[in-house]
Amino acid sequence: MDYKKFVPNEVYRSVFDIDFKKLYEDGKRIILTDVDNTLISYDEVGPSEQLLMLHQELTNMGFKIYLISNNNIFRLEKFSEKFINEGFIASARKPLKRGFKRAIKLINRPAEEIIVIGDQIMTDVYGAKRSGLDVVLVKPIKKSTEKWYTRFNRYWENKIVKKIKKVNIDIYNKIINLKEGNDND
Ligand SMILES: [Mg+2]
Repeated sequence: MDYKKFVPNEVYRSVFDIDFKKLYEDGKRIILTDVDNTLISYDEVGPSEQLLMLHQELTNMGFKIYLISNNNIFRLEKFSEKFINEGFIASARKPLKRGFKRAIKLINRPAEEIIVIGDQIMTDVYGAKRSGLDVVLVKPIKKSTEKWYTRFNRYWENKIVKKIKKVNIDIYNKIINLKEGNDND
């Protein structure tokens, strides 16, 4: 198995810690982000004030924002009322390639300009990587409200993380650091 496809390009504690300036300098122009536990927790419906401020900042920097989620269209439509975006893929069935392919088609820009953001190695990172996209991993906002299938993915995630150690020790250490800080669990 090719474990490289489970290794994110970078790891941050939250979306608020991501070095977007660096991403812009690296040529990224499009943010394709997960929603649940990346931008808001499962028990939130709309964006926080802090998230809206980040949104404004990113727009000012010149980023275009798209959403890709395994959650349904109703949740994404509701979230998009305040968190304005260029478009979204709902029921994406990450890590299948299909949702990412649809996103790339919708975005209609070179893949190198796109940065994916997500909180799950098994869906967000793996899905992005096998679709040829760079991806940033963040720590899930709130684990206690996760659905059973997410918990199931986490079981495999812990196994995969051990493999990442052999592929990229730097990223491995960053992931372990996040997992050890159980601030929100
Ligand atoms: Mg998520």
